[in-house]
Amino acid sequence: MNTKKIVILGGGESGVGTAILAKQKGYEVLVSDFGNIKETYKKVLTDFEIAWEEGGHSEVAMVTATIVMKSPGIPDTAPIVKTLLSKGIPVISEIEFAARYTEATLVGITGSNGKTTTTMLTGYILEQGGLNVGLAGNIGDSFAKMVALQSIGTYVLEVSSFQLDGVVGFTPHIAVLTNITSDHLDRYNYDFDKYITSKFRIAMNQTPDDYLIYDADDHVITDWLEKHPVRSKLLPFSLVEKFENGAYIEDNKIHINIDNNHFSMTTQNLALKGKHNTKNAMAAATVANLLSIRKATIRESLEGFQGVEHRLEQVLKIGNVKYINDSKATNVNATFYALDSMSSPTVWIVGGVDKGNDYRDLYPLINEKVKAIVCLGVDNAKLMSHFSTMVDIIIETESMTEAVKIAYKVAEKGDNVLLSPACASFDLFDNYEDRGRQFKNAVRNL
Ligand code: ADP
Repeated sequence: MNTKKIVILGGGESGVGTAILAKQKGYEVLVSDFGNIKETYKKVLTDFEIAWEEGGHSEVAMVTATIVMKSPGIPDTAPIVKTLLSKGIPVISEIEFAARYTEATLVGITGSNGKTTTTMLTGYILEQGGLNVGLAGNIGDSFAKMVALQSIGTYVLEVSSFQLDGVVGFTPHIAVLTNITSDHLDRYNYDFDKYITSKFRIAMNQTPDDYLIYDADDHVITDWLEKHPVRSKLLPFSLVEKFENGAYIEDNKIHINIDNNHFSMTTQNLALKGKHNTKNAMAAATVANLLSIRKATIRESLEGFQGVEHRLEQVLKIGNVKYINDSKATNVNATFYALDSMSSPTVWIVGGVDKGNDYRDLYPLINEKVKAIVCLGVDNAKLMSHFSTMVDIIIETESMTEAVKIAYKVAEKGDNVLLSPACASFDLFDNYEDRGRQFKNAVRNL
């Protein structure tokens, strides 16, 4: 019998997970990494008797592959990917491969912002409802590894557009599209339509028995849907519009209608604050209703969910000033919702690597909520030129400790200090987690 041969590009979490599953399914497997593979992953590969190489790809092995799994970090423009595609070898993503080997119910969550929060929130409600849930995709353990080693009834998958680019038959029974803003455009040749197409691949294989839950206040989504209809049942959510089927707000309550089944709860009781989180809650509660979780359980879960680190995370209250860590806000849209959710005067720490931000959307919120700005980045010139006429106090810093100390001095009783950078973190930090942790440490050391 001819052995099927899979080459896995990238020896990280998704690569190693795919390797384990592929080996279990009888593939001849090679994991190949252009850079170095972490020692912990090497050990796993060796334990599972899986072949690997690092520091380059051996082309002979590549072109004899039946199938190639490309890790999401590797762009389509990488020379090796181009070679493989030119030879007609299918290049797929981890979710595509793993989904072929599970009968579990799949919930797929994508969007520009809110993926992790909505995924964790959905997973939490379903778990509280007694389902056997696996959280995977861009968070936690690899999906493929879980498929190989665990028995899961329902997967809630956080799916990035890079994962979706490598999808052929992947079909989530329930898909969620949180929103689409122009992040990551560099990977799509600065072509917004390409990025939108990529996001909508979440619904590409759905049938009329499946569901697409989406933000109907997002015109990028609604305009696209008008021109490119999908086959799945549509369940929109909105803060301003009302639907016969979908989720909406009326009298400060979330209402969800699905085929005459009605759910409601007061927005005031939601544990996660801010309009964006109300939307995330609507999306998660719609999924939970579709999967027949008890209404009381859904309400209690939405009241009890503790939130996700680095997303509008309450750190401490010092001298009646609240310190809030929103380090994950790496674009203007995320920061927009953070500022929007501030109910007291705010000292705003912003800056980092700007990916071509247009700050104008933030102007009204800055006028209304921000009393002082602390710029935190190697190059603060753009921030200074945009905001120096808008607030009385604007200060430049290049370290988190200093930024927090300044914020502490400027803030008065009842104010908030908000880290919501609207930028990537690589100029001064390893990543957004490092930036968020440094913020929390600096606050705790005040
Ligand atoms: P993702 O996984 O898509 O990056 P996260 O849940 O990690 O999303 O949140 C990223 C940032 O976006 C955080 O600053 C968070 O407060 C903000 N955010 C969360 N949900 C939304 C939403 N629905 N719309 C806009 N911004 C959001």
